[in-house]
Amino acid sequence: MSAANEQTPAAGLDVERIRRDFPILAEQSHGHPLVFLDSAASAQKPQQVIDAMSEFYSHDYANIHRGVYELSQRATDAFEAAREKVRAFLNAGEAREIVFVRGTTEAINLVAMTHGRKHVGAGDEILITAMEHHSNIVPWQLLCEDRGANLVVAPIDDRGALLLDEFEKRLSPRTRMVAVTHVSNALGSVNPVREITRLAHERGVPVLVDGAQAVPHGRIDVRELDCDFYAFSSHKLFGPTGIGVLYGRSELLESMPPYQGGGEMILTVSFEKSTWAEIPHKFEAGTPDIAAAIGLGAAIDYLGEVGFDHIAVHERDLLEYGTALLDAIPGLRMIGTAADKAAVLSFVLDGVHPHDVGTILDQEGIAVRTGHHCAQPVMDRFEVPATTRASVALYSTRAELDALARAILKTQEIFT
Ligand code: PMP
Repeated sequence: MSAANEQTPAAGLDVERIRRDFPILAEQSHGHPLVFLDSAASAQKPQQVIDAMSEFYSHDYANIHRGVYELSQRATDAFEAAREKVRAFLNAGEAREIVFVRGTTEAINLVAMTHGRKHVGAGDEILITAMEHHSNIVPWQLLCEDRGANLVVAPIDDRGALLLDEFEKRLSPRTRMVAVTHVSNALGSVNPVREITRLAHERGVPVLVDGAQAVPHGRIDVRELDCDFYAFSSHKLFGPTGIGVLYGRSELLESMPPYQGGGEMILTVSFEKSTWAEIPHKFEAGTPDIAAAIGLGAAIDYLGEVGFDHIAVHERDLLEYGTALLDAIPGLRMIGTAADKAAVLSFVLDGVHPHDVGTILDQEGIAVRTGHHCAQPVMDRFEVPATTRASVALYSTRAELDALARAILKTQEIFT
């Protein structure tokens, strides 16, 4: 592994030091050193995140926003400090624009069921792209069924890039919402979000961005992107499961009805009528995953210390290196070759089902994802049942990609 580090021209990122922060990377799998190439599904956690959560449970734990006693105050302060870290990470204008949810899926459902229900009627349209994850398709389908509205899909080209002119053509006077992924989980394609928001806003249409696959790869600036909603999950950002974020412009969040009712989200309750708390609490019914929010804050601190620019340079090197390695393998076809791409190497092998590829790779200690990646329409678009997807993160190395390429060649030998 250290040899790989010497080859990696990512000045500024000491990958071996970073790897020591992630205890799981020292694990073995089937008698081999673990080669974890499935960070797009869920990223591993640095000790700093694990420690922050354990410290919180050991020394500061109590329910939040309720207790008058010191411990509850400390827990509340830690939870709200995590919200402020998320605000800074996204460069949102105000911490009250940050709603803690369970993850990207819940964030999108929240917007569809509140903003969507309020503004979408019969014959209206929701515009998405052909590269969306199921969680940015199905909530809109549910809304469309409920309202008699239509889901409109902007196509992608053979490399997996959005056809922006086709997207623009589909923005109609009936479009009530645009919902696009920032980075495709199945293809790695990066969408031109700034252009998309410009085109939509010219027509007065709000834009939700699914940032699940974008956040691990660099700092996000929601004001620069000029999006109205931005959703992501902590577990893909080296934080814990169980928590995620919905950023929403304050004026939109304020105008939306609540999503779920219960404690925490109310101002007053009587049997005749209840009134709602201010944002973001209006959307945070019930006791949240307090420790997870603190873990997410620690993950953001960690990435800030490593340096987002360094991460981007390292990952670009890995993507180029891995692409060249896989391109050189006869019988391997890359799925997703957009010019602007992040962290994902998706491929099919002639004559070998992706599940068989995944099984052989697993025997070599290599963890990759095989299947439709919760993006069945993408598989249909490329006329494949599934792909094998290797995905890299800040702790990945060239040596791991070498191991991947060797294992693919071995798979081909077994199956031919
Ligand atoms: N959108 C994209 C692009 C994703 O990759 C994922 C996770 N695979 C999701 C949404 C859903 O995220 P979660 O399961 O954390 O809600």
